Amino acid sequence: MTKNHEFLYVAISLDIDPDANSAVEGRHDALSSPVEHGKIRVEACKRGLQRILELLDIYDIDATLFYEARTAQMLVADGMDLPALSERHEVSCHSLKHEDYLGKVSGVPMEEESIEETITKAKDILENIFKRDMKGFRAPYTRVNQAVVRVIERLGFRYDSSETVTMGAEWKGSPFSLEKFDSDLLELALPSFQDSKGQKMSSYLWAIFEGRRGSGEYIDAVLWARDVAQSGLFVFSIHPWHLYVNCKGNPFNREQVQKNRDNLEHILSQLKQMRGIQMLRQDTYMENWVRLHKAGTNK
Ligand SMILES: [Zn+2]
Repeated sequence: MTKNHEFLYVAISLDIDPDANSAVEGRHDALSSPVEHGKIRVEACKRGLQRILELLDIYDIDATLFYEARTAQMLVADGMDLPALSERHEVSCHSLKHEDYLGKVSGVPMEEESIEETITKAKDILENIFKRDMKGFRAPYTRVNQAVVRVIERLGFRYDSSETVTMGAEWKGSPFSLEKFDSDLLELALPSFQDSKGQKMSSYLWAIFEGRRGSGEYIDAVLWARDVAQSGLFVFSIHPWHLYVNCKGNPFNREQVQKNRDNLEHILSQLKQMRGIQMLRQDTYMENWVRLHKAGTNK
């Protein structure tokens, strides 16, 4: 964020939610797959989170942690000292119980009032655990509508990070106001882009863990973004549970787990060494951006 804008800013964000979670027809909250079992599991999330936090320490990277409040409670009850483990990182909100606000899968869209009830509760739980204010929000399934945006703005969040936008000529990774929802709330969007074959790709690392993409493709994307989105923010996103179980909730074998860990470590180590890249938390980027933006308009 210097005057000559030579950096691409890269944030690592984690969506800390139940193992292989899925929306379920007829209910607002999510369950772990297979949903027929009616269970919520966080064992893989716990192991994945421990591993990722270790790696972030090793590579000296500050990240943004979007906690689902229920998962945070379960991890604390399981003996994890989340406040200590999260100390260097930004703590943000990822809903109460992974609600399907829009009802896209559940078939039961939520009213603004019940959205507000659940997010208020989530915020209270997280503030109680972490004893700090939260600035960021990411919706389950990265799906928001005007009601959700209105609620998070009202509850004092400073930014949303749920939207996915194509990075390139039209959008270079800067925050923008959610005008389409008639709101001034800032959006720190997730980028989508094209791989070397022209296929659409997102910055969620799930495709690596499902064996569909290699770590090199994500490194290439950042190298590309470094040229087209100088001074912009490139947000990566990871589900910690995905190091250990697949989307269907089946555990990976030892070899695949090792591969997942190696791939993730490769990405972090490469990002750390890359010239023209600066890694930071989303709130730090946002605050710097707001400061510069305001200074600019005062001139
Ligand atoms: Zn989630």
